[in-house]
Amino acid sequence: MSDHARFSPSSSHKWAYCMGALELEDIAKAQLGLDEWPETEYAAEGTFAHSVLERCLVYGITPEEAGATDIEMEEAVQVALDYIYSEAHNRGCQVLVEEKVHITEDCWGTRDVALHRPAEYLEVIDFKYGEGVFVEIKDNPQLKTYAVGQIRGMEDGYILPPEIKTTIIQPRIPEGHHYHHQEYLKLKGPIRSWSYEWVDLLEWNRDILKAIENQGDGTYAPSRENCRWCNAKGICAPATEHALTVAKAMTEGGHYTLESLEAYAVTAPAELSMEDRISILSNIELIRAQLKAVEGHSLEIALQGTRIPGFKVVESSGGHRKFDVDDDEMAKVFKVRKVRKQDYTVETVISPAQTEKLCKKLMKAKALSKRQFDAIMSHVITPRGKRTLVPEADARPALSLTAEQMFADVTPNKE
Ligand code: SF4
Repeated sequence: MSDHARFSPSSSHKWAYCMGALELEDIAKAQLGLDEWPETEYAAEGTFAHSVLERCLVYGITPEEAGATDIEMEEAVQVALDYIYSEAHNRGCQVLVEEKVHITEDCWGTRDVALHRPAEYLEVIDFKYGEGVFVEIKDNPQLKTYAVGQIRGMEDGYILPPEIKTTIIQPRIPEGHHYHHQEYLKLKGPIRSWSYEWVDLLEWNRDILKAIENQGDGTYAPSRENCRWCNAKGICAPATEHALTVAKAMTEGGHYTLESLEAYAVTAPAELSMEDRISILSNIELIRAQLKAVEGHSLEIALQGTRIPGFKVVESSGGHRKFDVDDDEMAKVFKVRKVRKQDYTVETVISPAQTEKLCKKLMKAKALSKRQFDAIMSHVITPRGKRTLVPEADARPALSLTAEQMFADVTPNKE
């Protein structure tokens, strides 16, 4: 058996709904000359936090003893431990840690934790260390797939409990003031659960087997949820068409509902054609500007009191603290309070522009040789600018790339 399942529960939000996602990801991967998608820093951090939780549960040690990298990880893992230990104790359950669950030979995954009391209680728990994206619990395909795998792994003749509970523990999502409402907490708090009757899971079992059978049938289902983590987005024509449909509806003041967009499924050639790519690049500014305009206008009306269902206004941190007067004024403030000058001032080195000016002045006064000038100026560098694709008509000169540079970031298909 390979180390990676083709149909892993963690990517079921793609393959269970969009029949072209895995195939198109293979094409995108081949185009980039990759064997595997590189692991992001966040994913690596999440994997490590999972291993800390596993060690805590297996050896009965603290997150610190299990090697948590910082206080934040210790606290997050502790939230999971507190929940797991208290539920297991209250319900008299066995705690099953990091076990493989199988649906088919190609569809399997490692479920974080399950709480089990034969014939009476079964809870499948997934620990999420991410803080950026809130993961919904209701109808979560990954959790449902783990639950199906868990049931399939039970011995013959096993009596299922009437309900199977699924739980996501995501301790690092921002706290919200709504959390004191129990119903809100159940679905939006850091620990959220949803229960299924086993017949619902039987139906999900049928759905995923059907999805596996239908893979590559040319049906694409672009939607916010399905496409969010799909690595084929950049070459996917249906997803692009979907985005443009949304943008068009917005620019023309048209109406669309989330339901209609979620139900949007197309049978189309999947890979973006060069013609479409050019058309998008040509219109990208227009679409971006339009989206920004809608966002800006919405913020304005929200600030003026219009409630936009599903959205709220938040304030980012205001950046570094600063004085409300200039440096000379602030120096006076210190001086009149008899603070010593050396305590409220720091020595800093002048900027590259000031350096050049100073060195030229010193050279003119014969206080600096050309060699010394060059030695000092050799420390002045211009950081490389961000590379951007712009229309030919743009006034800036095109970057001249050698063949080696051209393929430095995008390695050609090895086939
Ligand atoms: S980007 Fe969306 S529509 Fe395209 S293959 Fe991926 S999941 Fe399917």
